[in-house]
Amino acid sequence: MRFETLAVHAGADRDPVTASVAPPIHLSTTFEHGPAGELPHGFIYIRNGNPTEARLEAALTALEGGESALVFASGVAAGAALLQALPPGSHVVFPDDVYYVFKVMAAQFLPRWGIEASFVDMRRLDDLRRALRPSTRAVWTETPSNPLMHVVDLAAVAGLAHEAGALVMTDNTFATPVLQRPIDLGADVVLHSTTKYLGGHSDVQGGALVFAKRRPLHEDVQRVRTVIGGVSSPFNSWLVLRGLRSLACRVERHAANALALATALREHPAVEAVHYPGLPSDPGHEIARRQMKAFGGMLSIRVRGGRDRAVMAASRLRLLINATSLGGTESLIEHRASSEGPGTTTPQNLLRISVGLEHPDDLIADLRQALD
Ligand SMILES: *Cc1c(COP(=O)(O)O)cnc(C)c1O
Repeated sequence: MRFETLAVHAGADRDPVTASVAPPIHLSTTFEHGPAGELPHGFIYIRNGNPTEARLEAALTALEGGESALVFASGVAAGAALLQALPPGSHVVFPDDVYYVFKVMAAQFLPRWGIEASFVDMRRLDDLRRALRPSTRAVWTETPSNPLMHVVDLAAVAGLAHEAGALVMTDNTFATPVLQRPIDLGADVVLHSTTKYLGGHSDVQGGALVFAKRRPLHEDVQRVRTVIGGVSSPFNSWLVLRGLRSLACRVERHAANALALATALREHPAVEAVHYPGLPSDPGHEIARRQMKAFGGMLSIRVRGGRDRAVMAASRLRLLINATSLGGTESLIEHRASSEGPGTTTPQNLLRISVGLEHPDDLIADLRQALD
C-alpha cells in the first residue's frame, strides 16, 4: 500500500465491539485477567500498554516501515529510554548540533548512567569514522537538523556505524516519514517528537521510537518504559493517531510553503543567509534530494546586523507567532538562541521558522514588512 493510504488506515481497524470508524479511547487503567494472571486481550495495566497506545504504535510501525514501535510521553522521554536501554560503559556518537535537550542530557545525565558521549559534525564522515570506538553502541543522527538544517547522508553513516558494530538512531522529527524513511536507508531506530508534525496541531505532546527489527532492542526499551514510566496517556495517543490521518497532505503543503518562503527570503537585503535544503545553493541539497521526497517545513534565516536586528524583526511580525516548537498548522518563529538558553551554540542572528499552512503570500508579506 502507498504511504498516503497507510496514513489514513494504519491502526484504524474498526472497533470490534461497536464497529465505530473513529477509534475509541480506552481510559481504563486496568484490564481483567484470569485467576492465574492470564491476559486474554494482552493488556494488564496502563503503564505496561493500553489499546489506544497499541493502535498508535501499529500505525507508526507501518508509516516508518519498521517491525515495531513504542510511544512515550514526549520526544525526549523516547530518546532517554533508548539511551537508558544501553548497557553501562557504552559510547554514543551524537551530531554536534543535536536537538538542544539531548545535548543537555548527554552532558548532565549520561555520565550518571555510565554512558560516554562524543560529538561530531555528521556531515564529515571522516570525523565520524575517527570517533567510533570498540565500545560505540549507537550513532545518533538528526537530519535535517534543528535549527541549522544540516543534512546528513544516512546511508553512508549507517554503513560506517554498522561496520563498527553500532546501531543507528535517526531523529526523523523534522522530515517525518512522508518525506524521509530512515529505516529504508539503514537506520535501526527512528525517533519522533510526535508533539510536532505527527500530532500536527500544537495541542499534544508525545514521542515515539520505531524499530527496524523488533529484537532485541524493542524489549530492552520497553522494559525501561515500564520501569521508568515515561508512557503516553490514552488521550495523547489518540490525538497523535488523529494527526497521522492528515499527515501526508499537511507535510506536502508545509514543504511547498517553506520552499516559497526560502526562495523569497534569500532575495531580501536584510537576510544574510537562508538555511533550507530545498534551495539548490544549500550545502545539503544534493544529499537531501537523494534521501528526501521534499525538503520539509522548517527553515532558518540569519539576519544581517546581528542579534538585535534579528530580535527586532521577530518583534515586528503580525502573522507569524513568536513561539517555540514546530509542526503545527500556524507559522511560528523564534530567536532560537534565546529559547535554548545558556550554553547555546546557535548563531545569535538566527531565526527559526516553522512554516504553517497559511497562504505563502501572506507569510512572505509579513516577513518582508518585518525585515524591511
Ligand atoms: C521537539 C524535538 C524533540 C523533543 O521532543 P519533545 O516532544 O519536546 O520532548 C526532539 N527532537 C527534535 C528534532 C525536536 O524538534
